[in-house]
Amino acid sequence: MASLSREQVSALTRLTELADQRGSAVYLVGGPVRDLRLDLPPGDLDVAVEGDAIALAARLAETTGCRLVRHARFGTATVSGDGAHIDLASARSETYQTAGALPTVRPSTIDDDLHRRDFTINSMALALNGTAAGQLLDPSAGRADLDAGLIRVLHETSFQDDATRILRAARYEARFGFRLEEATRDLLVRDLPYLETISPARVHHELARTLLDPEPERALSRLANLGALRTLHPSLHFDSDLATAFQRLREIAPRAVPSAYWALLTWHAARSAAEPVIARLGLTRRQADAARALNALREHPPQSGARPSETASLFSAQPAAAVWALAAVGSGAAREQAHAYMTRYRNVRPLLRGGDLLALGVQPGKPVGDVLARLRAAKLDGEVRTRADEERLVRDGLARNDE
Ligand code: ATP
Repeated sequence: MASLSREQVSALTRLTELADQRGSAVYLVGGPVRDLRLDLPPGDLDVAVEGDAIALAARLAETTGCRLVRHARFGTATVSGDGAHIDLASARSETYQTAGALPTVRPSTIDDDLHRRDFTINSMALALNGTAAGQLLDPSAGRADLDAGLIRVLHETSFQDDATRILRAARYEARFGFRLEEATRDLLVRDLPYLETISPARVHHELARTLLDPEPERALSRLANLGALRTLHPSLHFDSDLATAFQRLREIAPRAVPSAYWALLTWHAARSAAEPVIARLGLTRRQADAARALNALREHPPQSGARPSETASLFSAQPAAAVWALAAVGSGAAREQAHAYMTRYRNVRPLLRGGDLLALGVQPGKPVGDVLARLRAAKLDGEVRTRADEERLVRDGLARNDE
């Protein structure tokens, strides 16, 4: 049975004592309540405070020596350290003036706070103090939906108020193996056009969270099937080839995964659509560079039968994420060469160093760099193996220069 860690329990106990002193009611809310019920270990702890969350967080940080980060604009704060990470927010109500815009926020009760949330499974709270301590607050029957494996919105216009919930719904479905409750699915499909009201930064934020899940291709395939991806941009596709590429990428390059995923997401965008897709996804500069490089490699793949040194010189100028992505998605020779480069060629160095070359009579400066590059190419292509082979190549080169 998953439960809070010892460190998390002790942080929440301290928090509750401080909240009691201030007369504030505190609740564990949203994700951690859901995860505990699903028997999953909760990560970050979300706490709603009926009162001043920032002041309470500051007090907690002060008494425990943990780190405090305040987000005054949002009335939230984070306290982290000693094996626990707590996000505190003042309980609030939200009203949406226009679709997609951030809501107007007012301090309020836990009940209002639960009613502003995305899905019933995220709308539960556990009272941490007061007479209700230990009680589950579940005004939208989230527990029943959790047990039935259903994603359900709280009201009819939920996706219109905030269409990022469309992206979130697919994430939770895929992550927990749940499904959209029928009426929620109809509302989601009806309200797909509201995705246009969502800024690239918010799209990026939600998809980045999705890409952190162990098998993001599941949520992305679902978003494609629901029509959400093409609503975000007509050139954004996700098919079984890309799903396979995602899986392959995790096998070959576990550490390169998030940045290469982003590049792969743009794989099906035709050349003229690459920039609009990059903009719609709100890619960072590095992510965009990798996406552009992958696009260029798709247009001009390495020649089949190219020598390893030619492959290396093509790929060494590209962002690693783009080459990993090609190794996961490209066809035939391009894929093999990208893989060979990332796993072998890029680590190949000559045995001789700059000092050795000077001792052999190579001129300092650029000539040393040129000879090292020539040696590396020869080694990649199997023309030299031993130190003696390399020395011979250098001497032959010097002799030719003297002729
Ligand atoms: P993940 O790890 O995927 O982010 P999470 O459940 O921790 O999952 P957060 O994005 O951290 O989700 O959000 C925390 C809580 O805030 C959610 O459980 C939900 O109750 C609420 N929430 C987040 N985004 C929205 C939204 N767009 N609309 C309504 N409620 C939201």
